[in-house]
Amino acid sequence: MTVFNLGSINTDHFYRLAHLPAPGETLAAQSYARGLGGKGANQSVAAACAGAEVRHIGAIGPEGGWMVERLTALGVDCRHVAQLETVSGHAIINIDAAGENAIVIVPGANRAIPEALAREALAGAGPGDVLILQNETSLQVETARFAQEQGLFVVYSAAPFEADAALAVLPHVSLLLLNEIEAAQLCAALEVSLESLPVPAICMTRGAQGALWLEPEAGRRIEAPAFRVTPVDTTGAGDTFAGYLVAGLSQGLDPASAMRRASAAAALKVTRQGTAEAIPSAAETEAFLQ
Ligand code: ATP
Repeated sequence: MTVFNLGSINTDHFYRLAHLPAPGETLAAQSYARGLGGKGANQSVAAACAGAEVRHIGAIGPEGGWMVERLTALGVDCRHVAQLETVSGHAIINIDAAGENAIVIVPGANRAIPEALAREALAGAGPGDVLILQNETSLQVETARFAQEQGLFVVYSAAPFEADAALAVLPHVSLLLLNEIEAAQLCAALEVSLESLPVPAICMTRGAQGALWLEPEAGRRIEAPAFRVTPVDTTGAGDTFAGYLVAGLSQGLDPASAMRRASAAAALKVTRQGTAEAIPSAAETEAFLQ
């Protein structure tokens, strides 16, 4: 069973500065580092770490080849990642001495994924396979609809939240994945309660409070408590959870077991600095669960 991920691939550029630049100011950085990022890439890496066969559907720019190499080294199949003339998606992350940040995001190639690419990728897919998608690319509605027609289980991670995008994708979604803030925003946009969202299943993450699975029509409610850890860096906890959850479901785990393993992997991630490169392996997660 394959996990397809229509997802962003970003270069994160980190600049350490004495202070955040004021309007008109030119400032030399104290240090610079580059990393692989993007919600899509993080979720693909997490699903691959969990042992799923993952095919990423996405696009990079002319200078983005190193990201495909990193993703491939981390176990993600990148045969459906196109290299375009448009610049790669990237984030410029300025961090001051107190750790405060100011971030600029350029979607770049992530919003120029050719439609034919997504269709080709999913052409041979069917029941048992999973598609996950988020809000950092183009083609969500078309791809979710096509995947639904092909019989895939469609998981929508509604982040970063955009009400219009979410409303357009929802009719094609099997499982909606969101955090508490996104859930509140979506419920407000639709003027309904969480239980009344128009999707068969919902998984809401609540940081250190754990996660909740709801299947309103079936009257099913599953709670997955978070594991108690000392947080070092919570960035990427949600993506680690998402990747592990879809991997677990594609591997035939029931929702409760998939959520427990996803919670353990996300808790372990929280104890480590970094995002994609800090996602724990399946073996580390199993050891943590013992
Ligand atoms: P982010 O945007 O930081 O990646 P998110 O807001 O999408 O995260 P969260 O709800 O914060 O997602 O976290 C996802 C899951 O990660 C939680 O359901 C929980 O299992 C785990 N988690 C997050 N924070 C903690 C924590 N401090 N301790 C233990 N587990 C945590």
